[in-house]
Order: sequence, then C-alpha cells, then structure tokens
Amino acid sequence: MGLLDGQKGLIFGIANDRSIACHIAKSFIAEGATCGFPHLPGEKNERRVLKALSAIEVADPWVLPCDVSSDEDIDNVFAATKEKFDSIDFVVHSLAFADRTYLKHGMFAETPRDVFSQALDISAYSLVAIAKRAKPLMTRGGSILAMTYYGSQKAIPGYNVMGVAKAALEASTRYLAAELGEFGIRVNSVSAGPLRTLSSMAVGGIDEIFDWVSKKAPLRRNVEAGEVGKTAVYLASDLASGVTGENIFVDAGYSVVGL
Ligand code: NAD
Repeated sequence: MGLLDGQKGLIFGIANDRSIACHIAKSFIAEGATCGFPHLPGEKNERRVLKALSAIEVADPWVLPCDVSSDEDIDNVFAATKEKFDSIDFVVHSLAFADRTYLKHGMFAETPRDVFSQALDISAYSLVAIAKRAKPLMTRGGSILAMTYYGSQKAIPGYNVMGVAKAALEASTRYLAAELGEFGIRVNSVSAGPLRTLSSMAVGGIDEIFDWVSKKAPLRRNVEAGEVGKTAVYLASDLASGVTGENIFVDAGYSVVGL
C-alpha cells in the first residue's frame, strides 16, 4: 500500500535528473501516484525531461509543454489533464526563473523593472494561475504544493529578486489556502535547503552557502533532494489532511539557528 495509491496529478518543473521536481516525482510514483509532467517548451527540453524520467524508470511518461508565463499554455495543460485524468488530487509547483545577471551580491538595487516583473510572474504568479485551473479538477479536494527558499525571509547575498519572488509565492500559498480550503484543497510550501540544480547554480556565491550550511545547520550537513521528496509525499497524502497554508522547512534545521 502506497501513501498516494490511486492519486493523480501534475508535477511542474523537471528540467533534468537533478531537478527537485524529479526527486518529488520519484517519491510520488514509489507511493503509487500517477503523474503528468508539464515542462518548459522546446524539443531539447522535452528530450532532457524524458531522459530524467527514464532514469527514475517512469513507464510511459506523459509530458506536456508549458511556459507558465503564458495563460494559453496553462489552459492547454489543464484541458489535456481533464481529458486524460478527468479529476486530479495534487499539483506540485517546482519552478522559478530570474535573470541571473541580477543574482549576484551587490546587484539587487540594480534590478530593472522588467527583470523584477518577469521573476515575480514566472516564480510566484504562476502558482495562482495554476491553482485557478486546478480547482475545478480537484473534485475530491486536493493538495497544491510550491517550492520555496529561506531567502524569502532573510536577505541572502546573491538571492536578490528571487527572494522577493519567494516571499510573494509564500504569501500566495496562504491566500490560496484560505480561499480553497472550503473545497477541501490544501495549499502548502516546502522551504528546501540549498541543493545542486541548474537553478541554484545561477545564484552568485552558492558554493559558500553550501559550505556555511554544512558547518552551521543543526544536522551539520546539507539536505538531500530525496528528503524534500519525502516531505512532499507527506503533504500530498492523507497524513497531512489537517495541514494547509504552512511552509515546512526541509533544511537540516538551518533556519532555526541565529548566528
Ligand atoms: P531546476 O532548474 O531543476 O528547476 C527549475 C524549473 O523551472 C526548470 O524545470 C525550468 O524549466 C522551470 N522553468 C523556468 N522558467 C519556466 C517557465 N517560464 N515556464 C515553465 N517552467 C519554467 O531547479 P530546482 O532547484 O529543482 O528548482 C525547483 C524549485 O525549487 C524552484 O522553485 C526553486 O526556486 C526551488 N528551490 C530550489 C532550491 C535549490 O537549492 N536548488 C532550494 C529551495 C527552493
């Protein structure tokens, strides 16, 4: 018996086998879930997603192109999902984007208006746009989960505009939780410690962050992506039936330490 037996849903955000979304997919499938995988459009991107899914032995993967800055793309994904699954139980939002030029210490005040808007649009508004389309398909209630980082709450050098986007994302989970709770839909976020992925490599000074966390976090190490996957399973499962609007840190305890 898996914790997610019979559950169906979408996992947004696989780019390659290092993506947090890929680790979440592995954990969800091991617990019995059936998933669709919307990914950034483009043949090369699709090939990488299929390769990542084959590495975790997903049989017959269902992948769909979706640039979340396009309402039309999101509409198409949910129309196809309605046709394929009829109803869904979960959506995982594991994606973000900001122009890396401005993800360096000393560059936050330089952030141009269009770079700021794009980061907030792709990394935060997309959760609202996705939740709107997920709601009518979550006929038995459901779980929506977003991925965030501690840079939403503290100014972490180099995280810059992405920290502002994550603050908006976390606030959006609370507002969505308050509004969708009456339909049995829970909305939460997981705040992961630093992990080596394509996105984190764009953050200036990331190696220093890994080093610092491994020395100062209560568990004296960095977190592993599989640990984020396990917490995501918990949040999507009935074990978390009373949990909504929460942000759960999976960061080896780093966020509780003041130094
Ligand atoms: P990743 O690069 O593997 O994943 C980011 C994903 O965002 C990619 O699949 C990319 O295609 C997608 N994306 C970017 N722009 C998009 C768009 N316009 N439309 C659709 N998809 C788009 O990196 P990751 O670390 O797995 O990131 C996943 C999530 O986890 C992000 O929200 C990230 O901020 C968050 N997070 C990462 C870390 C870390 O240290 N890696 C820590 C905490 C939170």
